Amino acid sequence: SIKDQVGSQMTFYTEEIRNQTIKETEMEALGKEALEKEEFVIYMQPKVNIQKNNIIAGAEALVRWNSRQKGMISPGEFIPLFEKTGLVVDLDRYMFEKACHWLRNYLDAGRPALNVAVNVSRLGLFQEDFVEYYSGIKQKYRIPDFLLELEFTESVMLDDSSTFKNVVEILKKNGFRCSLDDFGSGYSSLNVLKNLSIDILKLDILFFKEGTDLRRERVVIANTVAMAKELNIKTIAEGVEDTEQVEFLKSIGCDVVQGYVFSRPMPLMEFDEMLKTLRGRSIDVLKD
Ligand code: C2E
Ligand code: MG
Ligand code: MG
Ligand code: MG
Repeated sequence: SIKDQVGSQMTFYTEEIRNQTIKETEMEALGKEALEKEEFVIYMQPKVNIQKNNIIAGAEALVRWNSRQKGMISPGEFIPLFEKTGLVVDLDRYMFEKACHWLRNYLDAGRPALNVAVNVSRLGLFQEDFVEYYSGIKQKYRIPDFLLELEFTESVMLDDSSTFKNVVEILKKNGFRCSLDDFGSGYSSLNVLKNLSIDILKLDILFFKEGTDLRRERVVIANTVAMAKELNIKTIAEGVEDTEQVEFLKSIGCDVVQGYVFSRPMPLMEFDEMLKTLRGRSIDVLKD
């Protein structure tokens, strides 16, 4: 009967919710402990300038959780949960400090300047001491201006676009570069481009895969790159997996590519080794 069906559905939902709650609280407790035990590690994915002989143009620091209990966990499995509990703010700050520490040692070894980007969650941006913290760490590790890039997901625009605009302006004065991550994936509007003084748009090419119409896809990408160029905003194509895409991106004047076609994210040691084999051949993301 209908009553039975409703009854069993209720039970089903209750079970679901309970499982999820246990998982979330467990994850939060584990996450806090993991931060103390320093179980989070940086993987670096190179950014490559396709207009300049595929020279390295910087790298993005991506978090991996090397959990004693659960092995290596990717951010997709815990970042959404950490965003709910607020732990993501501490994690982002931890990652930022680790990245600065690494970059300081790298520079002290006499290696060429390198752009390093970290991700900042929406929640982090709206902390009162946000600018103070990030600028403080930059100073603590004496990182020269414009080597550090902060990647914000475009959903920051949803909450409070005027705060975001102000924060970006202060950050730039303090020697940071700011980029809009996952541009085109959902919330972005042309207002972002009209009103914000961001330096870089990160276009996730993977998002365009869902539509099968290659011609339409290419028109959208080409015109986004062209529009950004006229506004003095650089574009980085992310999630690029094959050489055909690289050729297309090159032909439309996109400068930088980040994707499996060149390299997967790798542990810091491996990244460091890779840079050594390049013998100083690396350039600035924003310079042509
Ligand atoms: P994101 O910032 O857009 O980073 C790019 C993601 O695309 C990375 O996934 C990267 O491994 C993946 N990727 C790069 N090239 C390719 C490709 O050619 N094909 C495919 N299929 N994927 C590619 P990852 O490392 O799993 O990170 C996922 C997301 O988790 C990131 O997306 C970012 O939103 C978030 N995340 C990672 N680290 C942090 C962090 O320290 N803090 C915060 N708040 N979020 C982070
Ligand atoms: Mg990113
Ligand atoms: Mg992205
Ligand atoms: Mg993404």
